[in-house]
Amino acid sequence: MTTPKSSPRWFLFLGTLALLLAVGLFWKKASQDPQQWHNPWVRVKLLELSYGEEVPLELRGHWSLFSPGHPVLQEGVDLQSMLKADAQGARIGAWLPKQAHLILRTEGEDAIRLGNRWYRGELHLFVERKSKKGMATGLQVVLQLPLEDYVLGVVCGEMPTTAEASSHALRAQAVAARSYAAHQLQQDRPWLQADTRDQRFLGIDFETDRAKHAVLATRGLVLKDATGLLPAWFHADCGGATAHAERLGFSSQNRRPLEGVLDPLCQSPQTWTHPVTAEQLDRFAQEQGVGRWIRSFSAEEKDAAGRWTKILIEGERAEGLFAGELLRKAFGAPSLQWTRLTPQQDGSLMLEGYGSGHGVGLCQKGALRRSRAGETWETILQSYYPGAELHELPPDLSWFP
Ligand SMILES: [Zn+2]
Repeated sequence: MTTPKSSPRWFLFLGTLALLLAVGLFWKKASQDPQQWHNPWVRVKLLELSYGEEVPLELRGHWSLFSPGHPVLQEGVDLQSMLKADAQGARIGAWLPKQAHLILRTEGEDAIRLGNRWYRGELHLFVERKSKKGMATGLQVVLQLPLEDYVLGVVCGEMPTTAEASSHALRAQAVAARSYAAHQLQQDRPWLQADTRDQRFLGIDFETDRAKHAVLATRGLVLKDATGLLPAWFHADCGGATAHAERLGFSSQNRRPLEGVLDPLCQSPQTWTHPVTAEQLDRFAQEQGVGRWIRSFSAEEKDAAGRWTKILIEGERAEGLFAGELLRKAFGAPSLQWTRLTPQQDGSLMLEGYGSGHGVGLCQKGALRRSRAGETWETILQSYYPGAELHELPPDLSWFP
């Protein structure tokens, strides 16, 4: 028996339990039937095995191995094995099928483990050979899953998904991730990378109910402008203003939602220091044809948030003007907001700066702060992609305006 005084707690407890159960059941139902018009397949590359490399593979429940256009090659119940890039192709335990494209499909959900992570979807193995009959040189391990499941993996990979006040930031992130992925599908990319080259994607071990709820609440919604589907880039910390996509070389045309905005919530950004080795500097000089080493860097153009968008390099032999992003990638620098460059005795360079990421589109730090301050996900998206509209993903991406 509970006393009348404690009953509101019980209601709260039972209510929360019911809500979690409802989200769980709804997710399971909603993530089925992936061929629905607004939930196309997405491929994301999990691993690349070089010749001789291997990784633990586990399948739960009934599974089958086949190649497109061929009958089932192998099937069974539960598998714990090793997946190896063999000279003849993809080796799964003792089996060594000859096909260049293999598919591992499971009947149950959440049933694939690769290394120490679990995944939902089916596994595609692509064997690479230098010549048609030659030795296999590598193995691409690619997960195929419905877009909505992929978006969930990105929300969990890109944002902290446990804080209570983050719900609207997570929803804005889900729409941005879905728009970006749909735009890549439109470009016929064979697969997306599972890291910041595209979007950081994690398996099901990292899913939270809050993240699932954010994906469901925005299900099938993407951003568009007059040109069409918006490649809704996003980044970690804008440092006070987001970047202009065209000026940074992200977009070949100017698009209003990607022109950059001021972000007052990020105006006292965290600073960082980043070493660039002498080898990195010399390699850049030689690859870009300015000589054997670099004498000096200077900012030829800076944007509103202090990003070095165009950088003049004086090399040992010649001068060159380079896009800032090229240097950020080559040097692995956290951002282009450089405040000090200090040459070191050993020929390396110490970079100091603030901000994190390329700076285009939604700023994750700002979005989380806005969410905590009570802004809705629609307002957050409008702040970072001004003028963009929300639209349901159509059945045929090639027809998307
Ligand atoms: Zn910001």
